[in-house]
Amino acid sequence: MDFEALDPEDWEPTRKLAHDLVDGAIDHTRDVRDRPIWREMPADIRAQFETVAPQEPEPLGDILGDVRDTLMQYPMGNIHPRFLAWYMGTSNFTGALADFIAAIQGSNLGGGNHAAALIDRQVVEWLRQMIGLPAGASGTLVSGGSVANLIGLTVARNTKAGIDLREHGLAALPAPMRFYGSDQLHGCHQQAMETLGLGNRALIRIATHNDLTIDIEALKQAVATDRANGITPACVIATAGTVNTGAFDDLTAIADFCAAEDLWFHVDGCIGALIAIAPENRWRVAGIERADSVALDPHKWLHAPFDVGCALVRSKSQHLETFSLSSEYLESTARGVAAAPFLHDFGIQTSRGFRALKVWMSLREHGVRKFGRLIDQDIAKGAYLSQLIEQSDSLALLFPTNINIVCFRYDPGGMDDTALKSLNTEIMLRLQEDGTAVLSDTTVHGQHCLRAAINNHRTRPEDLDLLIREIERLGTEIRGNP
Ligand SMILES: *Cc1c(COP(=O)(O)O)cnc(C)c1O
Repeated sequence: MDFEALDPEDWEPTRKLAHDLVDGAIDHTRDVRDRPIWREMPADIRAQFETVAPQEPEPLGDILGDVRDTLMQYPMGNIHPRFLAWYMGTSNFTGALADFIAAIQGSNLGGGNHAAALIDRQVVEWLRQMIGLPAGASGTLVSGGSVANLIGLTVARNTKAGIDLREHGLAALPAPMRFYGSDQLHGCHQQAMETLGLGNRALIRIATHNDLTIDIEALKQAVATDRANGITPACVIATAGTVNTGAFDDLTAIADFCAAEDLWFHVDGCIGALIAIAPENRWRVAGIERADSVALDPHKWLHAPFDVGCALVRSKSQHLETFSLSSEYLESTARGVAAAPFLHDFGIQTSRGFRALKVWMSLREHGVRKFGRLIDQDIAKGAYLSQLIEQSDSLALLFPTNINIVCFRYDPGGMDDTALKSLNTEIMLRLQEDGTAVLSDTTVHGQHCLRAAINNHRTRPEDLDLLIREIERLGTEIRGNP
């Protein structure tokens, strides 16, 4: 037999290439501040990503050369200190090493009796402790907040359906179910409702106050009206840190309401759940420990490399009742590698990657307390940027800053909203193209604004000073030559 495998015949050239790769990775991370954040790709670079599937071998050294010259030159930019768009995380080197080791160790986290599975369980348990859910609560690591929310809402749906939904499906429901959240809900909840077969219209968006938190009186009204109409209110989705402005719904009031009305209390804490570890700001999430389920995102404020999210469910039995499945080809045994509960029983993936290691290693390296301080520090940076905006004659803060998300615009006076929107969009695009800073924009309660989310352990106050100077300079320049 002509035997082939994927390991190199001689490991030594591979060892040399791998050592160089690690050296390059360290330089790349150390020098991130000195590079432009983002650059448009020239056509010849783009063309390299459009070739047909390679049929014949290429030397690893050539491939790594291409990685260095193309891939590494054109990143999204979110590990850079002046990347402030959307709501990202900034990664960390230890987490990157962990992803490498996870692949080397190679375990499948579908479950089994092995060390990686114990680390997976341990990380979920650490996250549970950080959020303050009671011991015995359940959880699973998933790709991110969107899937973590889907997991929580699925348990909510199945638990509150009043029928065996897994067996009979939505068609057997005696009355339609409804979920409620604020008009600031993240888009993943609509996708979850669509995926769950409940439909977008079964997700009721409740108006928010001027501070962008849910109007609880309006929520109570909506639930009462639905009940009176024979509809089944099932779940309230509270947001701890909205994506537009970082607003925190009143979790305690919602917990009380859900308890009184027998509703599932889900918290989308993708931005804010981890504030529970930040000494100066943890008051914002008081009540989160009463949630039936929580979605959180270690790839945001724990800066784990993408991707890793986490769904926590207060009742382990409800969690398992929603997902567990006994298949004849996956039965636990009394001894050996299958002598452990299967982790795929907590979600919809069968095979799972070893996401836990990057969280486990960096939590051990820095400790929970330091991650808490970094969260407080990002929130202090949000306050500092807001102060710079308020001190500027040509900038206006559009919403009070809650945490680390700052909504503002360049507004020199005498321009209408349409003109301001196009001027601010142009400023945002030029900042990106110059490689100075990456912001995003949004529209909140009808107001277009630039949005800086400082979820970035590398951002320093002088980065924010530079950002303001550049926005003022570009604003003047663009108005001079429209
Ligand atoms: C980021 C975010 C999500 C989605 O999480 P992903 O990790 O991007 O899938 C959901 N809700 C809120 C409030 C978020 O900020």
